Amino acid sequence: MKYVVVTGGVMSGLGKGITAASIGRILINRGYHVTSVKIDPYLNIDAGLMNPAQHGEVFVLKDGGESDLDLGNYERFLDIELTSDHNLTTGKIYQSVITKERHGDYLGATVQIIPHITDEIKDRIKKAAETWTDKEGNHAEICIVEVGGTVGDIESMPFLEAVRQMRWEYGKGDFALVHVTLLPADTMGDLKTKPTQHSVKALRELGLEADVIVGRSSYPISPSTKRKIASFCDVDTNSVISARTAPDTYLVPLELEKDGMADVLLKLLKLGPGEADNSWYSVVSREYTSRISVGIITKYGVEDVYISIKEALKHAGRKLSTEVDIHWLDAEQYTEEDLRDLDGILIPGGFGNRGVEGMIEAIRFARENKKPLFGICLGFQLCVIEFMRSVVGYKDATSEEMGEGTHAIALLPEQEGVEDLGGTMRLGDFKVSIAEGSRLAELYGETEVTERHRHRYEVNPAYIDEIEAKGMKFVGRNGRRMEALELDDHPYFVATQFHPEFRSRPTRTSAPFVGFVAACRDSQRKE
Ligand code: GLN
Repeated sequence: MKYVVVTGGVMSGLGKGITAASIGRILINRGYHVTSVKIDPYLNIDAGLMNPAQHGEVFVLKDGGESDLDLGNYERFLDIELTSDHNLTTGKIYQSVITKERHGDYLGATVQIIPHITDEIKDRIKKAAETWTDKEGNHAEICIVEVGGTVGDIESMPFLEAVRQMRWEYGKGDFALVHVTLLPADTMGDLKTKPTQHSVKALRELGLEADVIVGRSSYPISPSTKRKIASFCDVDTNSVISARTAPDTYLVPLELEKDGMADVLLKLLKLGPGEADNSWYSVVSREYTSRISVGIITKYGVEDVYISIKEALKHAGRKLSTEVDIHWLDAEQYTEEDLRDLDGILIPGGFGNRGVEGMIEAIRFARENKKPLFGICLGFQLCVIEFMRSVVGYKDATSEEMGEGTHAIALLPEQEGVEDLGGTMRLGDFKVSIAEGSRLAELYGETEVTERHRHRYEVNPAYIDEIEAKGMKFVGRNGRRMEALELDDHPYFVATQFHPEFRSRPTRTSAPFVGFVAACRDSQRKE
């Protein structure tokens, strides 16, 4: 196993995750099998209970892990599936060391950050890297390890020390460190290298040396600036790689490849140059023949909360040569005029009461005005509530999550008495049977699919017959659980309890998203 460790300097939000995922992609393009580990140095066990408005989307993995959104970038760029073992947090590391200590596993030793915490970190990185296989059962030859945060943060110290030990244990040839930094431009447009020099110095103080420097900048890095960075940071000039801000993140692998990243890394790792596979180009180069506007109704003002939905729409749009223009509409503020201008409405997942009435209103509008509508998770539950209120006749229909009324949506029975909030929802992959002859069956091209989940509530079984008698069809099911619904006599009224966005890839689109984008495009053409 060879390791490529990616650290970040200067500041957060540099696109370190996209850079790390792009490195993985170009190594795959050279014919290697690549997996990844993301380190988040916070004390939370996982991202499940973190506010998405502050921290971005909680990405749900197949095993139900509630992870950092960077795992989504890895799954999309590398076209692989990861598990919660691939997202290390300080919380997970300390929890297992303390459990072992209580169990008496350290045989009288004084349990310390070095060696016990650092050993735990190294063991877990190795285990995640070595046990991973792709769908065909291939093991990885290369593991990308992204260390979250910025070098110099107190939180990331034990992780960087573990990485330093790994470098010593593996030696050159099996380990390369890529340091991503910012090259800000001055008022004349010249790229400044001082912050990079300082962050490389901070790395050195921790005993780490960068093998490759990736400079994030608004302009390409000139040869003389590359030489300057190389001399200060002790790397070859061709190991200074330019990562210009790209108009589309999927272009970043091509930018890095063009600047020599794959050649430099493969040489450092003593691996052959491999065979260039340019199929990634077809993922990123698309001509659009139409353009649609989709409104996402949300209570959050931050797009990162729904990054996987944004990407899934983009993937489906590319497949259909349709550019998807997303409008983020505040669930508490939008007007009916805003909805009229859209080609389709998407109601995403969410928790709690705020904004819910606005979302229900948008669903009613879409149902009555025959605008394509796609509901996901909370969006699915709200479609049921709106139908119960407007069509079935239960004016007080609501969800048990929201309060008093007729509970069209009720707590999942296995959730009764669950007190801990962390990691206790119905999470991850479950099979869904899709009714033959339904729109979803046609879109999926199969009647049994696997999709990811994250919910505590479900359609109340007591009302299913009444709802179906009025024409809403539950076309997706898992035993007694309702997983997907459709309305006939509507260009596209589809909602899913599961989250299809988490399995969408630029290389493999998600059926309900493709159906939705196609319906938006077609209904626009009819106008
Ligand atoms: N709050 C709802 C539930 O827990 C929906 C969850 C979601 O949208 N992810 O069931």
